[in-house]
Amino acid sequence: MTSVHILPVTCKSALSRTGIPGHRYCLNPYTGCQHACIYCYAPVVLRFSPVSSSWGTRVHAKTNIAEALEREVSRKRDPIGPVMLGSVTDAYQPCEADLGLTRRCLEVLSECPGTGISILTKSPLVLRDVDVLRKWLPAERVHPGSLSVGFTVTVPDDTTATAFEPGAPPPSRRLEAARVLAREGIPVWIFVAPLLPGVGDTREALERLLTEVAEAGVRTVMFDRLNPYARAVSAVRAVYKARFTHALPDLDLYLRDPRRYCAAKDAIVKSLAGKLDIEIGVV
Ligand code: SF4
Repeated sequence: MTSVHILPVTCKSALSRTGIPGHRYCLNPYTGCQHACIYCYAPVVLRFSPVSSSWGTRVHAKTNIAEALEREVSRKRDPIGPVMLGSVTDAYQPCEADLGLTRRCLEVLSECPGTGISILTKSPLVLRDVDVLRKWLPAERVHPGSLSVGFTVTVPDDTTATAFEPGAPPPSRRLEAARVLAREGIPVWIFVAPLLPGVGDTREALERLLTEVAEAGVRTVMFDRLNPYARAVSAVRAVYKARFTHALPDLDLYLRDPRRYCAAKDAIVKSLAGKLDIEIGVV
């Protein structure tokens, strides 16, 4: 197992402006991510940070982020709107279990009127904070979109997922966590991202995944394509060469003409989603 260095750092501000649709701010309690997904493009976004070159093995924990957030929200005159928690990291990566920085930020935001929260994670650790998330439920009833938790699941099979997301909890545990949150009445969705050509986007893989999603009581699924950043593509290709050689032609087809390749896959997704009564979207 690769050792991970968690380094405490301090931050000047907690909220960052974001272009993510529906959000003005995002919040990342950590720089770097222990989940170490090989297709992750956050190291490209954070290319000037020291964590970029050691993605997955070095994480900076912003130990004062909750205090910085508290100061910031008290100064803002306009409502902050929904805050995206974890845009270039997973706010529920393993070190959060001990450090609790994400939880403390949630507590601050939950006391701030007019502030929503969107979480995207690969970890069932988010269940620890259900008591805080419940505080948004009254606002969610009046203003839908005030609260959402998304789980990223790229493939339904746990062993296959390990090849692409070596540090993340298996997809079966993510779907189990989604089931628990859905039962709690917390709006949950599944993010199939990236769709891995010939591995995650075969009819069999998609049918299994969407069936398991529907069985978990989740009705909304979003999809996103593999981002063709050179660094991500070369890491994905290396895994294909080692473990999924049968899918290499699909990867090449996709990279040559993504639009044409995805049109064929969209048709499969639409027909499966219709059968399972799932609402789909594309980021
Ligand atoms: S969980 Fe998200 S941020 Fe973390 S390594 Fe994977 S893709 Fe990157």
